[in-house]
Amino acid sequence: MNFDLLIIGSGVVGSALAIKTSQLGYKVAIIDSRETFPNSYRHLSVNQKSKAFLNGIDVWKKIENSAFPYEQIKVWDQEGTGFIEFNAKEANLPNLGFIVREGEIQKNLIEQFQKNNVENFWGEALLKIDYSLDEIVCNTSKQIHKTKMIIGCDGMNSKVRELSGIDFRSWSYNQTAIVTNFKTDINDSCIKQTFTSIGPLALLPIKEDESTMIWSIDDDTSYKFISMSDEEFTAEVKNKFSEQIGKLEMVSKRQHFPLHHLSAKTFANNGVFLVGDSAHHIHPLAGLGLNAGIGDVECLAELIKMNGLEKIKEITSSYNRKRIPINLGLAASMEAFKRGFSQKNIWIKLFRNTAFNLANKLSPLKKKFMELATEL
Ligand SMILES: Cc1cc2nc3c(=O)[nH]c(=O)nc-3n(C[C@H](O)[C@H](O)[C@H](O)COP(=O)(O)OP(=O)(O)OC[C@H]3O[C@@H](n4cnc5c(N)ncnc54)[C@H](O)[C@@H]3O)c2cc1C
Repeated sequence: MNFDLLIIGSGVVGSALAIKTSQLGYKVAIIDSRETFPNSYRHLSVNQKSKAFLNGIDVWKKIENSAFPYEQIKVWDQEGTGFIEFNAKEANLPNLGFIVREGEIQKNLIEQFQKNNVENFWGEALLKIDYSLDEIVCNTSKQIHKTKMIIGCDGMNSKVRELSGIDFRSWSYNQTAIVTNFKTDINDSCIKQTFTSIGPLALLPIKEDESTMIWSIDDDTSYKFISMSDEEFTAEVKNKFSEQIGKLEMVSKRQHFPLHHLSAKTFANNGVFLVGDSAHHIHPLAGLGLNAGIGDVECLAELIKMNGLEKIKEITSSYNRKRIPINLGLAASMEAFKRGFSQKNIWIKLFRNTAFNLANKLSPLKKKFMELATEL
């Protein structure tokens, strides 16, 4: 079948790109190797910029009711005195962002495919990419598609990246993220993140009486925490938040995700584009991975709108020029945070605590942090 754009991977990033480019008037298809959408129970933070994008493609209004706004972020160190706080009021914003279930965002995007004339193929894995002068030919597990542009939104282990020979750097953070939900009696709109000796632990409000937890634990300890009973695990979490929380009752299964960094050496080449996790994958401690992916979507769609598909070379160079530095900067910040907080050296700890407390007082520096969190 012939399309203007063929998108591989219908996660949130690929689905959002499909709708946006189809609204620009292009003939768009999206394929996914899964038989159907997974309805992920993981909750993600969505910043103001991503919300505005979803609003622009007419999908936010469907998600809005299940999205929980947060107005504050408090980050502190378990073993020192470091403390930093971000507040929506300081930034003159109604809130800093929203916590939404990933499956809810994806479901509402997919439901808009038909209305937006996006052709959607489930259970089709990409197997081969061939290039001819004016088109790209893709063999999938079911058929052959011809397209002017192929876009890999197929996640961290991207087949598009592999088949197009795009090199990448990757390493393990040597941590595993354990994720679960708790009923609580906290009832505020604050994300609380504390750096424990084994890794960052965050509680994010998802309802008035429920929070989702993500604890990125060093691999030499993570198995112990994965195999604990629910009661033992809950007691560990409670202990880390001491007086800040009252009741905690685990209400979902614990899921765990090994954590890796990945950065493709180029994000676009020969009519092949990488968007979202296929291009960059970062530590979840600042909850920015999906937001960075939506930033890619917005940028690529804008370049297609400005240039048309005839100017693929211009789109390629502009996309690389705009998105690679932003994502490298983000990855470096996450690395610095993670390394800084895993330091056991007393002088580095002292410096870290002082730097954090200073950052909390110096508003220009705080403003920079806020921009990173809200404006990717
Ligand atoms: C524990 C954890 C917490 C996180 N929290 C946050 C957060 O709060 N906020 C935030 O912004 N980000 C967060 N992230 C990051 C975020 O989840 C990812 O950045 C985002 O989901 C990536 O979306 P994607 O669509 O690029 O990739 P994916 O969601 O991985 O989607 C890829 C799709 O491609 C399909 N696919 C794969 N291979 C093929 C193939 N060969 N052929 C066809 N289809 C294929 C897959 O089936 C899948 O549907 C978190 C990550 C983790 C691990």
